[in-house]
Amino acid sequence: MMAGTGDLAERILAGERRALARAVTLVESTRADHRAEAAGLLDRLGTHGRQALRIGLSGTPGVGKSTFIEAFGMMLVEQGLKVAVLAVDPSSTRSGGSILGDKTRMERLSREAGAFIRPSPSLSHLGGVSRRSREAVALCEAAGFDLVLIETVGVGQSETMVAEMCDLFVLLLAPAGGDELQGVKRGIMEIADLILVNKADGELKAAATRTCADYAGALRLMRKRAQDPEGFPKAMTVSAWEVEGLDLAWDEMQALAEWRKAQGHWVARRSQQAAHWFEQEVRSGLLARLQSDPEVTRRMAKAAAQVAGGEISPDAAAAEMLGWLRG
Ligand code: GDP
Repeated sequence: MMAGTGDLAERILAGERRALARAVTLVESTRADHRAEAAGLLDRLGTHGRQALRIGLSGTPGVGKSTFIEAFGMMLVEQGLKVAVLAVDPSSTRSGGSILGDKTRMERLSREAGAFIRPSPSLSHLGGVSRRSREAVALCEAAGFDLVLIETVGVGQSETMVAEMCDLFVLLLAPAGGDELQGVKRGIMEIADLILVNKADGELKAAATRTCADYAGALRLMRKRAQDPEGFPKAMTVSAWEVEGLDLAWDEMQALAEWRKAQGHWVARRSQQAAHWFEQEVRSGLLARLQSDPEVTRRMAKAAAQVAGGEISPDAAAAEMLGWLRG
């Protein structure tokens, strides 16, 4: 198994898409031998020094994510850039029936030699979503992609998770019917660098313009972040269908990325992210180790039953458990 890793690493560094696809399959696998192979591979690739612009893209089903990514990706590929599209979908139910990053949703882009599209892994492989996604991003960077778009749906913790592996975060919205802000959680407004109100075309154009103005107003009320230049976070209208405003959106993304690089925020953010992942990995590794220990599971179940039965308080039971673990 391990024998092929060196060869695979070279093929990835040479930008071979098939090798990249195989490597992503390896990092997504839960099999122990695959995990070992993936670790060896990432180790070999660790020092290539290539960096992509990592952009997170979120939006509820139906806002036009795939239409946008197809048009946006095509525009960039035509400029000679290499674009990878990955998907993060930790939700157990796939709302709207759309599979993120599905190639049939981005037919033209998936045929481009400069593009790599990877659907979200199947549900049975969803353990350790964050780590697997990060590893997939690292593989794309090693393969020389200029841009890695990480697509996610607007549910649960997925946006926060994606924001933790991105340099920029883009929120895609559809025009609202009324004049009230859509049910967008404050949390996501806080992580968004750019809000793009899609479908600004035909009959929806006026509504899109209004929605955009509402969000621009809401963003102005929020505290300006230290890592942002004047005017960010920003709201703009786009039409993925008519390929309108995508070039401007790209200009803004680049301007923000350049500014953050120049100010040192870029490096700082990546370091913070690395530190965060380290802690997260230790924490989940510890938990996994505990949960796989039969004696621990037996004691946990017993203590849980005692707590449930009111024999002992949750805090006392936890203190006892921790004391035993330490001893
Ligand atoms: P996703 O679920 O977020 O990936 O959304 P899709 O890309 O599948 O788009 C959902 C629907 O919105 C489809 O019927 C698209 O044709 C439509 N749509 C996407 N982008 C635009 C746009 O720019 N303008 C208009 N009018 N419709 C769009």
